[in-house]
Parts: sequence; C-alpha cells; structure tokens
Amino acid sequence: MTERLVVVGGDAAGMSAASQAKRLAPDLEIIAFERGDYVSYSACGEPYVMGGEVAEVDDLVARTPAEFAARDISVHLRSEVMEIDLDRRTILVDSAGDRSEIGFDYLMYSTGARPLRPPSVAGAEKALGLRWLNDADHLRELVDRGTRKAVVVGGGYIGLEVAEAFAHRGRNVTLVTSGEHVLTRTLDPDMGSLADAAVRRLGIELVTGVYIDTIEEHEAHGGGHDFLGDVVVIGLGTSPESELARQAGIETGVTGAVAVNSFQETNQPGVWSGGDCAEATHRVSGRQVNMALGTVANKTGRVAGTNIGNTAVGDSERETFPGVLGTAITKVGEVEIARTGLLTGESVIYGYEPAVGTVTGTNTAGYWPTATRVDVRLIADHISRRVLGGQIVGGPGSGKKIDVIATAIWAQMSIDELAWVDLAYAPPFSSVWDLIHIAARRAAGRQLS
Ligand SMILES: Cc1cc2nc3c(=O)[nH]c(=O)nc-3n(C[C@H](O)[C@H](O)[C@H](O)COP(=O)(O)OP(=O)(O)OC[C@H]3O[C@@H](n4cnc5c(N)ncnc54)[C@H](O)[C@@H]3O)c2cc1C
Repeated sequence: MTERLVVVGGDAAGMSAASQAKRLAPDLEIIAFERGDYVSYSACGEPYVMGGEVAEVDDLVARTPAEFAARDISVHLRSEVMEIDLDRRTILVDSAGDRSEIGFDYLMYSTGARPLRPPSVAGAEKALGLRWLNDADHLRELVDRGTRKAVVVGGGYIGLEVAEAFAHRGRNVTLVTSGEHVLTRTLDPDMGSLADAAVRRLGIELVTGVYIDTIEEHEAHGGGHDFLGDVVVIGLGTSPESELARQAGIETGVTGAVAVNSFQETNQPGVWSGGDCAEATHRVSGRQVNMALGTVANKTGRVAGTNIGNTAVGDSERETFPGVLGTAITKVGEVEIARTGLLTGESVIYGYEPAVGTVTGTNTAGYWPTATRVDVRLIADHISRRVLGGQIVGGPGSGKKIDVIATAIWAQMSIDELAWVDLAYAPPFSSVWDLIHIAARRAAGRQLS
C-alpha cells in the first residue's frame, strides 16, 4: 500500500522536506497543509516589497501549489491542522470550517514561528507587524495611501528593516527600542552603536532604552514618552509554533522549540521537524538553540526530507544536520551588518576566555574613490586559539565577508591560521591585508590580563 507523508506548514522547511522526500521516494504520497494563502514564499523579501524594491508579493513565491502538483505533491491552502493524534496516526484539519481527519505514515512538523506579542505590552496583540506576505502588501498600501509618519517598536533586524523601508519611501520614522542600541542580540554593544549611527544617518529618529508598554492604532507609550504616528508597527522577535506538537506528545526542548536529533527526527518515531519551530545545535557553544533563519529552515527541511525519503524506500542511510553558527546579515541603507558564532559576552557565558581583535578600515583600498568605513571584530578563545565569532559593520561589499569568518569557525580554524589565509585583493575590493587578517592578528596577539 502507498505510504503517506503529511506536512504541517508549507513554507521553507516543510516544502524543502516535501520536495526532497519526493525526489528520493517517488511513490510516497505527499500532502501539505498550510493555513495561510501561500506556500513556499520568502518572508525575507517582505521588507523590500514594502520599500518598493520588489514589485509585488507574488514575486516572493518560489513555487505555487500548481507547480507542486506537477511534481505530484498535493498542497492545501487555508487549511489549518488543529490536532495531531500519534496513536491513531491521524491529523484533524480545518479548511474554511470543514473538518476532516487524514491519516499519515510520516509527519513533517514545520509550523515556523509566530511574532512575539508580549502580555506586558498592552495592545500588542492587535498591532501591525511584518510576518506574512499579506502584511507586506498591507503596509505598502498604507505607505501608498499617504502614511507620513511611522512609529516602529523593536530594534531587532525586522524592526530595522521595516523602519528602513518607511525611510526608503520618504516617510518620517521613529524607531523605539528598549535596548541600549539596536541589534543587541546580533552585535556587541560598541558595534551596535555603529549600527545606531547608520540608522540615524537615514534620517530615522532612533530612541533607545525605552520600553514600550502600550500600543494603540496611532500611538505607542512607554517610560513616560508618547510616540505618535499615522501607523505603529511592532517587531519584537518570534517564538516557535510548537504548541500543537507539545499537545500531541512531541517533545520540546529548553528553548520551547521542538527537540530533534541530528536526523531532524523528534522523540516520536516517524515524526520529523525543522525550521523556525525546531531546535538546532550551536556548533560553538554546543547548546540547543532556536534560530529563526531561512538558511536553517531550508537545510533542516532538506535533511528531514532525505531521511523521510530514505525511510520510505527502506534505505537505512541517514543524513545528519551538522548544526548552526547563527550567521546572519542585514543592511541599513548602505551599511551592511553581519555576525556569526558567539558575541563577546556569549563566549564568556559559555566558559571561553575571549581574545578580541577589532579593526576599522575601508571596504576598498583607502585611495579608491568609493572607499567607505568598515569595522571588523573577531573573537577567539585565548586558550584553544579557536575562532569563536565575528561581526562586521560597514560599507557595500563588506557584510558577506562574514562568510570567511563563518567558514573559519566551521572548520575549527585557529585565529593564527585565519591571520594568514590567502584572501583575494585588488584595490576596488579590499586593502592588501584584508581587514579580517588584521582583526585576526590583533585577536591572536591579545594578552589577557
Ligand atoms: C520580515 C522577515 C524577514 C526575514 N528576513 C530573513 C533574512 O534576511 N534571512 C534569513 O535567513 N531569514 C529571514 N527571515 C526568517 C525566515 O523567513 C524564516 O526563518 C523562515 O521562513 C522559516 O521557515 P519555516 O518553514 O521554518 O517557517 P515559516 O516560514 O514560518 O512557515 C511555517 C508555515 O506553517 C504554517 N502553519 C503554522 N501552523 C500551522 C498549522 N497548524 N496548520 C497549517 N499550517 C500551519 C504557517 O502559516 C507558515 O506558513 C525573515 C523573516 C521575516 C518575517
């Protein structure tokens, strides 16, 4: 009899798993349920629909249900999975009020993450945010219809990208964050102050150290301040959508996300998970983390799909997901911001003795007409000499250099080796000693007191 894979949640992790399982097990019946209006879409592109760089949300859809159907993968939109019964191996689906029970042999749990709406912020539940493609459309429409002033609450990367999009469209923006700087979970504080400067250079009014406790349609209040705008948008981070799994008896971990082994399998046989709703192992700290990143979702989905496909055809070979470094990149205007591995403070928490090297230079040879400032930070462990982390804030072309640092961490390279890696040079691209070389040399020579 044909076996069936049911996918709960049809975006990066779920549809990567579905596609990969189908490649390896063409006879496997695959049905994906998605409660929203789209599958296989890029939330990462939403700020750029809002800002007008990308013409429309449909451009962010990698594959439509019809394209999946052509690959013999059946997709049901506006269909929410309400319950998972692991004893009977069925799910309960609600499609516009019609409820039905569907059986499964394998289950891919890929429900993603939901925007945080802290109960300590009155009105947060009803506030606008940027999570779904429909949000991007709605916010762009507001700008088109004449929004002049926006208040953005939250200094993480989504808050920054929303604020940038409003500024890009020529609107007045106030960005309010409770942190001392923006991107407090992405950068060390002094590197964060460089990001603050980039925000202010865009003409955005940045207010730090203010916790917003009340949000209304046109106002945000906190710390004795009132912020008024035509629109208030919040971006306060995300939390994993793991409740449905927990109710079914699928184990969650310390982060609250679904616990998986390195094959992306949960504690329940035949039930896999990946993406924003699942945990992953951090390759430096060794801890379980919940990284809400598209890169991780695509990879963990693919690993799950390989293992589901192999299981379905009776192949005992298993693919393992090797873990994450938290490598991420964004931009504020022309300034690129990237990080990988551990921040300085995190490396202390995890028992390392950080040796830190920081350098300020330019993204090209200093004499090149378009040279702009770049700051690079490298963090190494003083004892083992292993590279632990890196951060970059700087002009065009500098941010993706974080990949060199990520590769060094991944390969467990020492800071002394990184200082001599053969990196490319010509005046339009870098200085002859790359800034990564110089930061590595500084970190390598750092004496701990
Ligand atoms: C504005 C924005 C910008 C971003 N930018 C970047 C970036 O630049 N780089 C990067 O790496 N990452 C970025 N991300 C994060 C990235 O989009 C996510 O990590 C990625 O989408 C996670 O994929 P996923 O499949 O795990 O979950 P999701 O994309 O959240 O998909 C899960 C799906 O499951 C559905 N679902 C949930 N519960 C049910 C249910 N019970 N029944 C049926 N369906 C259900 C949801 O509707 C959703 O469509 C960004 C995110 C946002 C919001």
